[in-house]
Amino acid sequence: MLYKIRDEITKDYDVIIIGSGLAGMTAANILGRNGHKVLLLESHNKMGGFATWFFRNDREHVFDISLHGFPVGMIKTCRKYWNKELADSIVQLKDVRFVNPQFQVQTDFTKEHYTNVLKTQFGIPQDTVSEFFEYLATMNFYDNSHVSNRELFEKFFPGRNDVTRFLMEPITYANGSTLDDPAITYGIVFSNFMSKGVYTFRGGTDLIIAKMKDELLKNNVDIKLQTKVDKILVENGKTVGILLDGKKISAKAILSNANIRTTVLNLVGEEFFPQEFIKKTKEVRLNSSSCQVYMGLKKDAVIPHIGDLIFTSSYPVYDPERLLDLKVSSRTFSVYYPKESRPQDPDARVAIVSSTNCHYADWKNLSSEDYEKEKEIMIEDTLKGLEAFLPNIRDQLEIIEAATPLTVERYTLHPNGSSFGTKFEGLDISMNLHKALPGLFHAGSVGIIMSGWLGAANYGAIQSNTIESYLGTQNV
Ligand SMILES: Cc1cc2nc3c(=O)[nH]c(=O)nc-3n(C[C@H](O)[C@H](O)[C@H](O)COP(=O)(O)OP(=O)(O)OC[C@H]3O[C@@H](n4cnc5c(N)ncnc54)[C@H](O)[C@@H]3O)c2cc1C
Repeated sequence: MLYKIRDEITKDYDVIIIGSGLAGMTAANILGRNGHKVLLLESHNKMGGFATWFFRNDREHVFDISLHGFPVGMIKTCRKYWNKELADSIVQLKDVRFVNPQFQVQTDFTKEHYTNVLKTQFGIPQDTVSEFFEYLATMNFYDNSHVSNRELFEKFFPGRNDVTRFLMEPITYANGSTLDDPAITYGIVFSNFMSKGVYTFRGGTDLIIAKMKDELLKNNVDIKLQTKVDKILVENGKTVGILLDGKKISAKAILSNANIRTTVLNLVGEEFFPQEFIKKTKEVRLNSSSCQVYMGLKKDAVIPHIGDLIFTSSYPVYDPERLLDLKVSSRTFSVYYPKESRPQDPDARVAIVSSTNCHYADWKNLSSEDYEKEKEIMIEDTLKGLEAFLPNIRDQLEIIEAATPLTVERYTLHPNGSSFGTKFEGLDISMNLHKALPGLFHAGSVGIIMSGWLGAANYGAIQSNTIESYLGTQNV
C-alpha cells in the first residue's frame, strides 16, 4: 500500500528500508516479492534518490538528473530483480564524443572501438592494448590490490597523459574518481562499460520510477513518502525498529539507503558501535559533488544530432583536480532527443543537461549574493561551451537553470551533496555494518563499484540476500 502523508503506521515489519534510491528500492522489491513484510520510507516527495527528474512550465519540459548512461549489465539486473518490461526499455547510446585540446573521438564506447582508436589515433601497439584490457579483466572485487590509477596508467602507457585522458576521463566525469583512487574501482567500472558500450532507459526517469513503484506495490511493499527517519532504535545490542514522530515502528531488520556515515553516526549513534568501528567510519571520505545546467528548448526547436554524450574540455591536459575546479573548463553534455528518449510523449522537447564534478566547499562558503553570481557564470560558461556544437542555442532556449552541490544535498540528504556517496573505504563499513550491529544493514553509494544505477541496484540485491539470511536466524 501507499501510505498518505497523514496516515499513521501501526503495523510491525520484517524489514524497514530507509531511503528509496535504486539500492533501497531494489532490495525492497526482492524482499517484498519473497514474501517479507517490507516498509519503504522516503524523505523526498518522490522515489528514486539520485535517479530523479523535474518538470518545468506545467510539464512542458522535463530534465533527467542522472540518466546519462550505465553498463549493459542493467538489462540483466532489471530482468532479474524488477521485470521484463523495464529490462526491455533499455537501449544503447551509440554516439559518445570527446572534444578536447588533446583529441577528438567519436565512439560507441566498446572495447573493439577503443582498441582501434588506441592503435590508429594514439599509436599504441596492439600487444600493449591487449595486455591492458587483459589486466583489467583479471581485476576482481575481492582483490586486495593497492595499485592506484596513476600506477596503472604509468605501467601500460608511460608519459601518455592523452591516453590516460581517453581511458579515464569519462569515469572521472561520471563519478569524480582520481588518479590516486584504487585502480580496482576504475578497472571494474570501465570494463563493465567496455563490454558492450553505454546504455540508457528509453522513456525517461519519471517513467522508470513510476514502473518501479507499481512493481513494489504489486509485491506488497508498503511505501510512505515525505517521511524522514531520524532515529534507528537499538535494544539489547540489536536494531528493533525506527522512531517516527516520536513513535516506534518495529522491524526485525533495518536497511539504510542513506549515506553510510550518516547511518552510523547520526541515525544510530556512536554509542551503539565498537570504538574501532566508529574510528574507521569517521575516516571514510565523502565523494565529490556535482553541478548541472539544465537547458530546455522551445516547442518546435530541432537540433542536429551532435552526439548522445559529449565529454568536452578546453583544459590542455588531463588533470582530475581541475575537473572539480569552480572555474571549470570541462563538462559533459547529455543530449535528450525526444523521439529517442521519450517516444511516449509526442510533445516532448529537446533537453540538454550539462554536468560537472565540483567541490561542495567552493559553493557552501559563498555568500548568497556570490552564490547566485557563480550560478550565472556557470550558466554563461556552459552556453559558450555548447555554442561550439550548436551555434544558435541561445535563440532556441526556453529554459535554463543550474543546480549546485547544495541542491544535491537538499534533495538526497548526502552530506556535502556527495554524488557517489563515499570513497571506496565506505564499502568495508557498509558490508560489515550488521556484524557491528546485528539487524542493521546498508545498501547504496559506497565507492564507485556499488554506485551508479547498476552498482546501486546490484548492491541492493546483494544486501537483500544478506538480510534474508539474517531474518532466517530471527525466525527460529
Ligand atoms: C549529477 C549526477 C549524475 C549521475 N549520472 C549517472 C549516470 O549517468 N549513470 C549512473 O549509473 N549513475 C549516475 N549517477 C549516480 C547514480 O544516480 C547514483 O549512484 C545512484 O542512483 C545512487 O543510488 P543509491 O541507492 O545509492 O541511493 P541515493 O540515490 O543516494 O538515494 C538515497 C535515498 O535515501 C533517501 N534518504 C536519505 N536519508 C533518509 C532518511 N533519513 N529518511 C528517509 N529517506 C532518506 C534520500 O532522500 C534518497 O532518496 C549520477 C549522480 C549524479 C549526482
